[in-house]
Amino acid sequence: MDLDEKLLALLACPLCHGPLERERQAPRLVCPACRRAWLLREGVPDLLPESGTSLEAAGDADA
Ligand SMILES: [Zn+2]
Repeated sequence: MDLDEKLLALLACPLCHGPLERERQAPRLVCPACRRAWLLREGVPDLLPESGTSLEAAGDADA
């Protein structure tokens, strides 16, 4: 158990206020609606709007 699921349930996207998803491969939270990701810093999410990174620009050629 790393990030508490109750804590995750309280968190919302700083841009659209939608639910965030915990990413498995990386320590970050993802908003599927905005297609942006926020890094976790030592388990603490850095949910400033300007801290989000675009998933498209992340360079994951996964699909
Ligand atoms: Zn969002």
